[in-house]
Amino acid sequence: LADNEIDDSDCSVRVAVRIRPQNPRELIDMCRICTTVIPGEHQIILGSDKAFTFDYVYDTSSIQADIYNECVARLVEGALNGYNATVLAYGQTGSGKTYTMGTGFDHAFLDHQLGIIPRAVRHLFAGIENLVLSIEEIPTEQAKSEFSVAVQFIELYNEDIIDLLDPYSKGRSFRIQESSNGEIAVTGATIKAIYEPQDALKYLQQGALARTTASTKMNDQSSRSHAVFTILIRRQRLLASESNFAENDLETLTSKFHFVDLAGSERLKRTLATGERAREGISINCGLLALGNCISALGDKSKKSTHVPYRDSKLTRLLQDSLGGNSRTLMIACVSPSDRDFMETLNTLKYANRAR
Ligand code: ADP
Ligand code: MG
Repeated sequence: LADNEIDDSDCSVRVAVRIRPQNPRELIDMCRICTTVIPGEHQIILGSDKAFTFDYVYDTSSIQADIYNECVARLVEGALNGYNATVLAYGQTGSGKTYTMGTGFDHAFLDHQLGIIPRAVRHLFAGIENLVLSIEEIPTEQAKSEFSVAVQFIELYNEDIIDLLDPYSKGRSFRIQESSNGEIAVTGATIKAIYEPQDALKYLQQGALARTTASTKMNDQSSRSHAVFTILIRRQRLLASESNFAENDLETLTSKFHFVDLAGSERLKRTLATGERAREGISINCGLLALGNCISALGDKSKKSTHVPYRDSKLTRLLQDSLGGNSRTLMIACVSPSDRDFMETLNTLKYANRAR
């Protein structure tokens, strides 16, 4: 078994920790680094003795491509075959969630700095092309695949849903609905069909910009809200039948890939403690708390039939059909290496540890 290879069988939730590099401010202030990673041990040690083990641990020098290739690529492969997936970035504000996920709108980014979403979109389209080509190469094969891909980009703020792809949606109310087959959908939210990676990136940027514009007016809303970028994939296969006279079977595989840039985790504690901004504090807490509870229930292999409390928040309700079951989930806990963030980092590692 290679270093980063982990048995796939019954592990639907995996957890990665990523330590960002120190920023210029921390360097000027001569902050000490209080995190240590032991190579090959999947372990992070905070301070002198607080050791945590995760599925993947990335030190300050890690690059975007490592995280994508080792943690996310297999989820995209799965999505091509009908498996839902969710990648979540958790951590205090400034810990690297948006950088890692690629939910920013920065056009100036160089290729190697691209985050998870742009990489996933490229990989997905390359995968589709390969599948379509490989099928066409077999002349006797009657099976034919057709793919359609679409995206959605919403924000959860105060238990309200904001459609980031529709600038005129403010004030409209959206509902999260479950269909008879258990599929979750946000009724009324914009769904944009995409035909090439560039289309998806255009909507990603449009939504990210809408989010940032709002945040300057509303006192950094982006650190208080969850941003959920979703890729919807539909694959139709014409299955060759035994006899030419019989009707061919049309098989439809659908899958959903959520990329979630979560609200800053410092809110979890701070807002509860002070009681200020009650409505906001409580609902953000409720999303992160409920998520922690759901992921912890899913990861609990000792109790296979544990109740998973999806209904406790809009966030978990929205992710319900893509967390657990046949879905694959990756939580990336983002942390700062600096001693001044020690307590927040400890909280993040504890939260992430519950998911294992
Ligand atoms: P968050 O979304 O958690 O609030 P950001 O992703 O915005 O944090 O990161 C804060 C700052 O640190 C940004 O300027 C970002 O570009 C930078 N940064 C974060 N992670 C890294 C990294 N791994 N390598 C280089 N710069 C990073
Ligand atoms: Mg951010």
